[in-house]
Amino acid sequence: MKVYNTLDREKEELKPIEGNLVRMYSCGPTVYSYAHIGNMRTYIFMDLLRRSLRYAGYKVKGVMNITDVGHLLSDGDEGEDKMQKAAQKEGKTPWEIAAFYTDAFFKDIDKLNIGRPEIIAKATEHIPEMIEFVQELLEKGYAYEISDGIYFDIGKFPGYGKLSGQTVDEKEAGARIEENSEKRHPADFALWKKADKNHIMQWESPWGMGFPGWHIECSAMSKKYLGEVFDLHTGGIDAVPVHHENEIAQNEARAGKKTVNYWMHGEFMMVDGGKMSKSLGNVYTVSDLEKKGYLPLDFRYFCLNAHYRKKLNFTFEGMDAAHTSYERLRNSLYLHKMSAEKTDPSIIEDLKKKFKDAVEDDLNVPFALGVLWEAVKLPKSKDVYALALDFDKVLGLSLDKVTAPAPEKIDVPEEIASLAEARFAAKKEKNWAEADRLRAEIAAKGYSIKDTKDGYEIGKLA
Ligand code: AMP
Ligand code: ZN
Repeated sequence: MKVYNTLDREKEELKPIEGNLVRMYSCGPTVYSYAHIGNMRTYIFMDLLRRSLRYAGYKVKGVMNITDVGHLLSDGDEGEDKMQKAAQKEGKTPWEIAAFYTDAFFKDIDKLNIGRPEIIAKATEHIPEMIEFVQELLEKGYAYEISDGIYFDIGKFPGYGKLSGQTVDEKEAGARIEENSEKRHPADFALWKKADKNHIMQWESPWGMGFPGWHIECSAMSKKYLGEVFDLHTGGIDAVPVHHENEIAQNEARAGKKTVNYWMHGEFMMVDGGKMSKSLGNVYTVSDLEKKGYLPLDFRYFCLNAHYRKKLNFTFEGMDAAHTSYERLRNSLYLHKMSAEKTDPSIIEDLKKKFKDAVEDDLNVPFALGVLWEAVKLPKSKDVYALALDFDKVLGLSLDKVTAPAPEKIDVPEEIASLAEARFAAKKEKNWAEADRLRAEIAAKGYSIKDTKDGYEIGKLA
C-alpha cells in the first residue's frame, strides 16, 4: 500500500518494521467538551486507514490517547486550562468532566462505525511514564528547568522543523510570543509545568507539584505501547507545525534516532467555506445532525466523498445529497441482496481489483466509492451484494444491515380507512366472508390491504 508521508512530502510504499504488522499511533480527543464533526472527520480518516491497511493484508496495532489532563492548550504553553474552565462552568470535578466527554466521544464514534484502536490510553493514567520521559531528556541535556517548569531546548535539536518544513526562525516569527524571559528560545516548549495550588489537576514530580506539557503524553504513551520506534502516526493537519514537530523533537532527542517512519495527516473540514468556530455558531456535533433528521452514517458517507488530504466543505445541501445517495445505495443493494441471479465472476474480479487498487493508492476512498456505485448499477445479483459487503470492510457503511425500503407514505382517504378498520374488525371476529367482501370493495376503489403481524398496511394499487 502507498501512503503520503508528510515527513517526506511524497507517496511511499508502506513497509512495516516487523513483518506485516503496522504499529500505529493516533492523536485522540481532548475531553472537556463534545467532539465536533470536524474532529470526527479526522477520526473517520484514522478509521479508514485502519480498515484499508487490513484490507491490504496488514495487521494493525493501534493506540489512541485520550487527553484528560487539564493542561494549557494554546500552542504557546499559555492560555487558560480548558479542563479547569469546563469543570468550573459545569460545577463538576475535572475527572467527572473527562469521564462524561470520554463517554460521549465513544458513543459518537460508535455511531459513525469508527472502530476503536486496540489500545486506548488515558493521559492521567500515564503520568509516571511522562515524568520518566522528561527526566531522560533532562539527563541527556535536551531540557532545562526554569521557575515555572521544565522546557525542551530546541537549540539542542538540529532537526527541529523538519515535519512542517519551517525553520526555527520562521517559527519564532509565527509564534505568539508571550515572553517568558527565562526561556532560552521563544519556541522552546514545556515538558512539565509547575502548578500553583489553585490548579485543579496536579501530580507529584521531582520538580514539585505540577502537570505535563501537552506534547509529552503522546511521546510517552506511544513509546510504552508501540516501542521506541514504530511505523505510523496520524492526526489532523493542524498538529503538524507544533504538536507533532514537538513530539518528533522529544522522541528523537531521547532515542537518538528517527522514531516514526510515516506521518499521515487528515485535512480540515470547513463549514460554508470558512472555519468552524463557536463564535460563528457553526460547530456541529453528531447529535446536532441527528436532531436535524440525518443518520450518523449520512455524515460518514459525506466524508467518504472527499480524499482525506483535501479540505472538505461542510454544508447542509451537501448533507442532503449524502443522505439521498446513501439511501439510494442501501435500497438498491437490498434488491441485489434479494436477487437469486449471479454475475459473471470476471466482472466481479475486475471491480474488486479496481477497488483494492484505489484503496491502496494512499486511500483513494472517493474513487473506491465510485467503484461500489459501478457495481450497484449492474443487473441485480446476489454476487454484487456479496461484493458490496467486501467493500464495506473499508467503507464501514453498515451495508450488511440493508433492509426493505420503507413503503412510500400514501394519503389514505377517510372512506378507505374506515373500510379497512371494518375489515380488520370482521377478521378479528373470524367473519371471513365479510372480511373478503370488504377487501374486494377496497380493491375496487384502488387500494390494497396487506396483513401484518399486529395489524395491516394500506397500499395503493398500481
Ligand atoms: P482536539 O480534541 O481539539 O485535540 O481535536 C481532535 C482532533 O480533531 C485533532 O486531531 C485535530 O487535528 C482534529 N480537528 C480539529 N478541528 C478539525 C477540523 N475542522 N477538521 C478536521 N479535523 C479537525
Ligand atoms: Zn498527539
